[in-house]
Amino acid sequence: MSDGQTVLVTGGSGYIAGWTIIALLKQGYAVRTTIRSLDKADVVRANIAKQTDPGNRLAFFAADLLSDAGWDEATVGCDYVLHIASPVAAAEPKDANELIRPAREGALRALAAAAKAGVKRVVMTSSVAATSPAAKDLSEADTDETIWTDLSVKGVSAYSQSKTLAERAAWDFMAKSGGGMTLATVNPAMVLGPVLSGDYSPSVQVVERLMTGRVPGVPRLGFSMVDVRDVADLHIRAMTAPEAAGQRFIAAGRFMWMADMADFLRAKLGSKATKVPARRLPDILVRLVALFDADLRSVTPGLGRRRGFSSAKAQTMLGWRPRPAEETLIDCAESLVAEGVA
Ligand code: NAP
Repeated sequence: MSDGQTVLVTGGSGYIAGWTIIALLKQGYAVRTTIRSLDKADVVRANIAKQTDPGNRLAFFAADLLSDAGWDEATVGCDYVLHIASPVAAAEPKDANELIRPAREGALRALAAAAKAGVKRVVMTSSVAATSPAAKDLSEADTDETIWTDLSVKGVSAYSQSKTLAERAAWDFMAKSGGGMTLATVNPAMVLGPVLSGDYSPSVQVVERLMTGRVPGVPRLGFSMVDVRDVADLHIRAMTAPEAAGQRFIAAGRFMWMADMADFLRAKLGSKATKVPARRLPDILVRLVALFDADLRSVTPGLGRRRGFSSAKAQTMLGWRPRPAEETLIDCAESLVAEGVA
């Protein structure tokens, strides 16, 4: 438990950060969080208060990943830093640096401030986008933490580049810095689960598009998914477990094809899921439409490909247990209905 310790969570306005703040508050920690503009503080506090009363244990600090201002003030006096903020884009940006710069520079700013403040451990949210084998090396076996995404392979997305370069930079920083501070990373697969408001991470769009029928049919795509509440739990385990120092932890539950997600939602949610398409989209049609639709273009390389990730390390080393994917899907869809989005 917390013993009155203080944790800085970066990017409090985000989906994973919001649920991590809730989990920390529930365990008794004092929480600070950075947001780009303090104008968002009331909304973030209200979203968190839907799950737990923050009382006087939640404080906001302004800090941007692309600027030095505010990082030292936010971090001084903290025991731990959970560096979660980083841009997540639904579509491929024109310039990959739109994602790479804030991801990499932000990680280095968070680490430098933490080292200066004498923080015990930083847990950084990386991604399976940094632990993905190239398409030619894909096998039936699930990928583990020993794999690093190879950025010399053509066609690696800007997001995967940003997460890989940011995580590499973080480990390089640690290799060069002395002192007692340690680092661990959490590398989640596609994060789903209940949303805290109508403003949610692009990852939730998969369920949102199915529930609203915004897709004319279901493409042959599938994802390893993980519940946002379990990702929050793994961050806290990686923060406190002595053996987590210097380790990467994949956070992934089951792989599911979108067609199975759609069938499951229709079967379980009945009248709430009438717009979920039953029709399957042939790959050729998806590739054709992708010629004119940038959002779709970024996912076509995954058509028909099963990319599985193993979280055995988090389970054996940290006792982490991801909940069933079905619970995650239902809670995600129900929360979108409650927010009036679906
Ligand atoms: P999210 O809801 O979009 O949160 C992203 C957060 O980063 C927001 O708080 C955002 O602030 C902040 N941010 C972006 N650019 C910033 C900048 N220049 N300065 C300061 N803050 C900035 O997405 P999320 O899903 O919670 O993602 C959180 C972390 O998890 C990211 O590191 C992401 O790469 C990682 N992750 C996510 C998934 C997933 O499936 N969702 C999977 C693996 C890893 P604003 O609100 O001001 O934009």
